[in-house]
Amino acid sequence: MRELLMVRYGEIYLKGLNRPYFQNLLLARVKSAVKAYSSNVRLHDSRIYIYDMADKTACLEAVQQVFGVHSVCPAVEMEKGDFEKVCEQGLQLMEGLSGSFKVIARRADKLYPLDSPQIGAEMGGYILSRRPDLKVDVRKPDHELNVEIRDLAYLYSRVYPGPGGMPVGSNGKAALLLSGGIDSPVAGYMIAKRGVALVGIHFYSFPYTGERSKEKVVQLGRILAGYCGGLKLYVVPFTDIQMRIHESCPEDHTTLIMRRFMMRIAEKIARKEQAQALITGESIGQVASQTMNALACTDAVAGMPVFRPVIGFDKIEIISCAQKIGTYETSSLPYEDCCTVFTPRHPVTQPKLDKVEKAEMNLANAEALIETAVNDSEIIEI
Ligand code: ATP
Ligand code: MG
Repeated sequence: MRELLMVRYGEIYLKGLNRPYFQNLLLARVKSAVKAYSSNVRLHDSRIYIYDMADKTACLEAVQQVFGVHSVCPAVEMEKGDFEKVCEQGLQLMEGLSGSFKVIARRADKLYPLDSPQIGAEMGGYILSRRPDLKVDVRKPDHELNVEIRDLAYLYSRVYPGPGGMPVGSNGKAALLLSGGIDSPVAGYMIAKRGVALVGIHFYSFPYTGERSKEKVVQLGRILAGYCGGLKLYVVPFTDIQMRIHESCPEDHTTLIMRRFMMRIAEKIARKEQAQALITGESIGQVASQTMNALACTDAVAGMPVFRPVIGFDKIEIISCAQKIGTYETSSLPYEDCCTVFTPRHPVTQPKLDKVEKAEMNLANAEALIETAVNDSEIIEI
């Protein structure tokens, strides 16, 4: 008898000829997520099996973070020859559970002497005779005891959900504009969940924003890295550009122009990193720079697709997502963010692109400023 974790994948099932590619990538992701707890991870019968775990609970939690995982079950694997022994194991798995149950039997080994209904009935009877406190309910049971007869017998009674999605790396790479706020980590999570690897970009306005605010972003990066298997974070020195915008452009346009510079710099870094798109946490109408017109002005300088996965979410919905993925607490820490330092009193809400472009002309040597910001970025491997 051996304990293991049985990992099922979700959408990969839909893949046709490419399935082995996705399976192997997911296998690699799971291996890397659990490497501190087990080195015995293999693909078997269209699932991933993990054996010899140093810490079962921690290992389970790690697997539950891997994109592409549909669900994971702590299971027992054993010889199937002695059916009474299999029943005894089933009884053990019901330990600590109360209420009603149902045995769900699956027989992949068609030569096995009992068929699925017989396995279910026999095991149900065996358990009931020794646990008269339980009762069988085939329609809405409190617990489902699963028995699978394959090359060996597999039993499990608990199924834990995975995050779903696709293994990271199966759908290219994108650059996430990561502020210290609530929205951008959620946006990054949503795109990474679709199999996209992330590179993080943070615009840092030292000394207007201090070390602690940078540490906060690094911490957010760490949480995201837990899902993505790692994250490279560019911390871009942004103060010079902000000062220059502040000095030379009309005040009501400064935020928008600043956002256009963020896009230009992010695009340069994205290309350097072979990323194919940008991601932001913008949501329609949230602030002046996120009205439809303002978004259009920001988009106008991005030479690659800009993904805004929370565009149609209310703040409350984004917050509940942040709580679910574990970024909310860190995002709520009070440190200043660069955008609040130079915020104009009355930003334009319905900007016109030609006016924005004209206002931007006041900035001399913009290209050089962008180049310097990219080159002077600090790179943190998380
Ligand atoms: P968030 O939107 O992450 O909660 P926020 O509300 O402070 O942070 P906004 O002013 O709404 O940020 O900016 C919209 C988007 O622009 C952010 O979601 C993020 O993608 C990007 N952004 C803003 N500030 C920064 C920054 N300092 N570094 C990197 N990206 C930023
Ligand atoms: Mg926001």
